Amino acid sequence: MKRCDICGDEHFGESLSCEACHKVVSKYQNKPKYPMAEVRKALRGAYYSKSEEKKESCFKCAYTGIIGKFNIQDGTLRTFDDALVLTLDHKNPNSNSKELVVSLNIINKMKTDIPFGDFKKVVIALGEYFNEENDRNSKKFEKELKQMVGKEILVDAPEFHLGGGMA
Ligand SMILES: [Zn+2]
Repeated sequence: MKRCDICGDEHFGESLSCEACHKVVSKYQNKPKYPMAEVRKALRGAYYSKSEEKKESCFKCAYTGIIGKFNIQDGTLRTFDDALVLTLDHKNPNSNSKELVVSLNIINKMKTDIPFGDFKKVVIALGEYFNEENDRNSKKFEKELKQMVGKEILVDAPEFHLGGGMA
């Protein structure tokens, strides 16, 4: 008997992980972008439970706390239709860190290469604008976005006509 390195359940197999966890691990084998030590670490940190028939391991999305499963089959996930499928996300893609986190597919696709902490700030600021779309909030969002990315925009927008509508 061995203990699975991810879920801690006992198993008889040869691999480090139990059959259910190994299905997920093996998806990422031989992919240089996903070092196995990081894959195992991310899965260990996100492990939640087994499915009822114990054939699949369930994990928790690092961004939303939503519990889900990885897609065991290969094939491209559609951003919206496969929103709730779990994936592994590079937490800070532009840094040297190879740290991975478990993420819902929709979040991973929306996030693309935005660093972990900044993604939340962008989404909150954008959500505030979407909540009440008007010129004032558009300018507010623009200012916040500029601060976040640390850049001035090249186009100097003309002054807004506060009060809205066509002048
Ligand atoms: Zn396991």
